[in-house]
Amino acid sequence: MFTGSLRAMNRRVPLLVPFLAFAQVFAACSSASVPAPTAPPASTSISTTSTEAPAANPSSTSTTTPTTTVPPLDVTDDAAMRRMLDDLEVLLVNGPREGGTEAEKLAARFIRTTLTSLGLTVQGESVPLPGGATSENLWVTFGDGPVEVLIGGHYDTVRTSPGADDNGSGVVGLLELARRLNQEPITGATVTVVFFGAEERTFGMSSDDHHYGSRLRGATLAQAGELPDWMISFDMVGSTHPIAGVSLTGTDQAAVDMLVAAGASVDMEIERLERGEISDHATFAKLGVPSVFVWRPGNPEYHTDADDVVDGPTLVKNLVLIQTALESLSG
Ligand SMILES: [Zn+2]
Repeated sequence: MFTGSLRAMNRRVPLLVPFLAFAQVFAACSSASVPAPTAPPASTSISTTSTEAPAANPSSTSTTTPTTTVPPLDVTDDAAMRRMLDDLEVLLVNGPREGGTEAEKLAARFIRTTLTSLGLTVQGESVPLPGGATSENLWVTFGDGPVEVLIGGHYDTVRTSPGADDNGSGVVGLLELARRLNQEPITGATVTVVFFGAEERTFGMSSDDHHYGSRLRGATLAQAGELPDWMISFDMVGSTHPIAGVSLTGTDQAAVDMLVAAGASVDMEIERLERGEISDHATFAKLGVPSVFVWRPGNPEYHTDADDVVDGPTLVKNLVLIQTALESLSG
């Protein structure tokens, strides 16, 4: 995750305008007068309001009659790109989202609000951290098919970085995936989209003090005998660097094989890599779940205060890949 070369980003995230938007989000969702999200939409549609400003005012999305059906995703889907970039602006507005901090909690609240505004039921669990602080995992589930897939990404950052690429890019991709799965679940599959807290190494702690959210989720599912059939970690996917499918060294390659095949079917060449415990897939790989970390390595701004840009068209390409991969898993 450490070296980089050329950078050609689409948008440097401005901070003043979304600050107002973020204030609106929390003014809205903390108010007792805000109507509860409506029931999940019976038809597969997303309102024009949510298309234009999904993050700015969830209360409006929950009360607006859906008018626009989202078309099948392709790499020219500018509306999807705009939604993801809008979400990113809001996600970044409070600065670094280190695990256990107020900024991380506000990010979790934004994620929850965005999902509930779609009519989704959000599940969650508190994640204990060293020193008594807590983080949170959040997840939503789509479909009821026999193949169970967990796809997740972390929403926290290191202390020193706004984390647009690491991992705002994965978060906004998963939010957009949730919008799409809410319209049309993957036939034959049950897909759980998880937003993990506290993935990054805790400041000042040892090198193994990380991945708290995914470790808790993996342990809980293992104990309940409910581990998924597949796991995909979506982490640092906002730069234009070539994409890689990363396995935990020495573990099952099936999920990497699946991703490479899905990439080939949409004309994306995916490099195979093996690495240590560098993302949330590691927990599940160690539990025996075929797992892959979807990653665009080489961003030189990784873990720096300059990680405030992503490439919009790349976000859409990622989504095409993920949707293709999920469909391939459904059999
Ligand atoms: Zn990351």
